[in-house]
Amino acid sequence: MAAEIAELRHAIHREPEVGLDLPKTQAKVLAALDGLPLEISTGRGLSSVTAVLRGGAHSRAHSRAGPVVLLRADMDALPVTEETELPYASAIPGAMHACGHDTHTAMLAGAAQLLSARQAELPGTVIFMFQPGEEGYAGARLMIDEGVLDAAGERPVAAYALHVSAQRLPCGMFSTRPGTMLAAADQITVTVHGRGGHASMPHRAADPIPVACEMVTALQTLVTRKFDVFDPVVITVGSFHAGTTDNVIPDEARFLATTRSFSRESRSALAELVPRLIGDIARGHGLTAEAIYAGEYPVTVNDAAEAGFAAETIAAVFGPERSELAEFPITGAEDFSFVLEQVPGAFVMLGACPPGTDPLTAPTNHSGMATFDDAALADGTALYAELALRRLALG
Ligand SMILES: [Zn+2]
Ligand SMILES: [Zn+2]
Repeated sequence: MAAEIAELRHAIHREPEVGLDLPKTQAKVLAALDGLPLEISTGRGLSSVTAVLRGGAHSRAHSRAGPVVLLRADMDALPVTEETELPYASAIPGAMHACGHDTHTAMLAGAAQLLSARQAELPGTVIFMFQPGEEGYAGARLMIDEGVLDAAGERPVAAYALHVSAQRLPCGMFSTRPGTMLAAADQITVTVHGRGGHASMPHRAADPIPVACEMVTALQTLVTRKFDVFDPVVITVGSFHAGTTDNVIPDEARFLATTRSFSRESRSALAELVPRLIGDIARGHGLTAEAIYAGEYPVTVNDAAEAGFAAETIAAVFGPERSELAEFPITGAEDFSFVLEQVPGAFVMLGACPPGTDPLTAPTNHSGMATFDDAALADGTALYAELALRRLALG
């Protein structure tokens, strides 16, 4: 099937779509699933595809239909212009599958074919979750709101997601870990309200710029003085805007920051301490400021038993040398975290560096040069299918 999976992947890669509405990608997935013994439904508020495969062999330990396992692939691209010059490169300027979600979609469609061929011997039910809007649109949460976790009539006993990496991992290496797998990501929007005036007479105005600068550095002090070094946080101010020219003091300054945290405790401490610090610094200078702390994605936490099961499955199917237990979590974030808040499961990374590139220097996911090798597709497809088969057999 490898060639067929690669063909689907290339078709999706050529026509990337960003966000929650991916009609062309959805159509390709529906075509790939056509004719399989699946109960298929599509999203109302987003172009998701949920497919349910009910097995014919029932486990005695569970309810009559056997347990349910969920497999997830995200389908959306990024607003990035592709610079790879691959034969199947994006034909859409300003959109690219730079995070490799095209590979996930093709691999999960392949797994649906593999598992459908074994429907009679499947001791339970598989939910295939094809999800739009992972890159900042919380598509997984929207699919949960629309009922994906109840699509089989019974909650899944386990949920798994695969994610390819263009760097760090050698091609074909799988990596997971028990507990915290990825960071929580939140956004802070700060507006400092001052009073504009002539730049030569700052005492007659209320200059928001030095106050906003003080906030940026104070946030870094907050990171080192208020958080346990063994439960770290990241705060990065990625956007800072104020003023129009050198001799005018502006009325306000604005900046945006992202935060990353690895525990619920640190995350809630950030949400409390950051707005307080911003407000107090503004007050100290006789100005006012707003800090809006917007929760984006929670910490992605792998269930210890399910991460162990995934690692054992990888070792059994591909050999122990293909399974890495990651030493550290990843500072990126994932909306699969919303699924793992409700269902025990594991998020697994898969190296997909092209041959001849050094994983340590290869362009990263989200780069216009990011390249994911087709060689990873067959193994990713096999892992999705093996995880479902073996986990259902456990009951
Ligand atoms: Zn991404
Ligand atoms: Zn991604």
